[in-house]
Amino acid sequence: MEPRWRTDRCIWLRRSKKRHVLHDARTAVFFYSRQSASQTNFLLPIRKSVGEFLPTPVPPVDTCGENLASSPLDERRNTATTASASNIAVTNEQIAQHLETLADLLEIQGANSFRTNAYRNGARRIRQLSEPIESLVARGVALTTLDGIGKSVAEKCYELIERGKLKQIEELLQVIPPSVLDLLQVPRLGPKKVAALFHQLHITNLEELRAACQAGRVRELAGFGAKTQQSILEGIAIASAANQRILWAQADDLVQELRHHFADCRAIRHLDFAGSYRRGRETVGDLDLLVDATDADTVMDHFAKFRPSATLSGRGPTKMSIRLDNGFAIDLRVVPPESFGSALQYFTGSKEHNVVMRQRAKDRGWKLNEWGLFVDDDAETRLEGASEQGIYKRLGLPFIPPELRENRQEFAWAEAGNLPVLIELADIRGDLHMHTTATDGAASIEEMAAAAKAHGLSYIAITDHSQRVAMARGLDPARLLAQWAEIDAINRRLGNSFQVLKGIECDILENGQMDLPDDVLAQADWVVASVHYGQTQPREQITARIIGAIAHPHVSMIAHPTGRLINRREPYDVDISAVMDAAAHHGKLLELNASPKRLDLNDIHLAAAAQRGIPIVINTDAHSIDGLEAMRYGIVQARRAGLTKRQVANCLPWPELKKLMGKKR
Ligand SMILES: [Zn+2]
Ligand SMILES: [Zn+2]
Repeated sequence: MEPRWRTDRCIWLRRSKKRHVLHDARTAVFFYSRQSASQTNFLLPIRKSVGEFLPTPVPPVDTCGENLASSPLDERRNTATTASASNIAVTNEQIAQHLETLADLLEIQGANSFRTNAYRNGARRIRQLSEPIESLVARGVALTTLDGIGKSVAEKCYELIERGKLKQIEELLQVIPPSVLDLLQVPRLGPKKVAALFHQLHITNLEELRAACQAGRVRELAGFGAKTQQSILEGIAIASAANQRILWAQADDLVQELRHHFADCRAIRHLDFAGSYRRGRETVGDLDLLVDATDADTVMDHFAKFRPSATLSGRGPTKMSIRLDNGFAIDLRVVPPESFGSALQYFTGSKEHNVVMRQRAKDRGWKLNEWGLFVDDDAETRLEGASEQGIYKRLGLPFIPPELRENRQEFAWAEAGNLPVLIELADIRGDLHMHTTATDGAASIEEMAAAAKAHGLSYIAITDHSQRVAMARGLDPARLLAQWAEIDAINRRLGNSFQVLKGIECDILENGQMDLPDDVLAQADWVVASVHYGQTQPREQITARIIGAIAHPHVSMIAHPTGRLINRREPYDVDISAVMDAAAHHGKLLELNASPKRLDLNDIHLAAAAQRGIPIVINTDAHSIDGLEAMRYGIVQARRAGLTKRQVANCLPWPELKKLMGKKR
């Protein structure tokens, strides 16, 4: 399909099978709509500069993923901080994304990575700043005085503050079609490989990439091969899916923004969010907003004012839909109070859960729909509808928490009267995975401790990277021992009120050995073992590596056990069931990494691990003070797995957790 140019705004419309992609060639803005190809009249307004949904590639050499790339939490924090100060035109996150896009484009054009690393490092540094760059500049701070920000990065910052875009990106996009950047969303395709695909095979988008793989042309390129071609082909699905659903944490931000927006709408008596958001799924496809109001029109008029860049895609007497400029849909329904509970139940789903609910109604000679629970089809005989709890009660069930409504075990549990009492954020006592300025974190040990204490925790483990992760300045034995001496001193100052544990995130090397000597690991309170390199090893090899670490006498826990990044990178090809067997056998713990783009283990694996009696540890893997707030995302995931506080080891005080580990570590 030939691109069409609209010269007035320089919008390039490209058709693909499932969606339209609009590219503003001047600012590299991407707007994905999920309309079908027949709805060609659907054009979204182009308003903002590079925004929060611009794809950021997985770094070519991936270490911890979450630290070298951005954390969505930090992204959102920056946007949130700056959004509230309405005089800020360019957020730190937007600046960081521009710099990364520039680095990507330069590398695709053929620049060496030495040149582009300055921009990538600058982007990382800017994300870690707690104050908006724009207000720093307004205060007269020279940006080059900031650690990690050189002259070239500073100049780009000034240009972005002034113009909201970068001339250099505009020029690069004259020669590189913006859709080439989509290729970076394919797992394990870095800018260098994309450059080869673009220059040698003239591939400019995902569809062309798929065709080239199917024709066997990709494997013939130097540095690719048949295996790479196959993994690219598999990754194209992930890259396409990445545009369809957003992370739960991003949906949650939107929910908070909507709640804030509607706070002063007097017509609203009650408001709630249903759908997969309410069930806490790790990604969310759209938002369902239910409202009980005195006047539907007032609510809808108010809804129409949410984000000026949103588009109205439909409005009726009780239902209205808008689409954000990234294509994400929000549906609002005004529901009468006598049906609010049944509507909430109906729109929360899941479909599979509701099939069982409807059948239970049918078995009793009743009918259940979004309007209520009725005696047969007679709308006059509503038995229940105002309260969701009431619906469950009428159908002989206790209230089933939304996170469990997947028709897995919830009905069996409910029937047997042993629905689990799900874990809550307040149950968590410690956080056992986090990074500091010693490696790639943004805060000191003391700052992390103070912040964790303010969150109500009583202990944390400092687990910086080990030496193999050179990109993050991983710790060698000498630096690690020095850090532990510092921790001893900090603990003396803290007294009994709080404890900082001496930990390490030790790499499991490609050959299966631990990255630090045994006599060093033996001195730790807590050893986290992780795979960061050699993630693409064959199943047997990578499984053996992880099991070897589990058997290691000094290892306490395996971090992010499958290594997946949601929508971005598939899990390692690891036999997770063998890993669980080994963990159960050796009495080791498994992590639920709460970073919103990891959430690793996933809900299914967590439930399986808990069933085998393996204690789960929910950790934030924080790389900044704000990162500690990710704990709540982990809690949502743990609740989906049906976990109680008894199954989560960091709900225990440290002395008891230590006892739980026993002599095995
Ligand atoms: Zn890690
Ligand atoms: Zn980590």
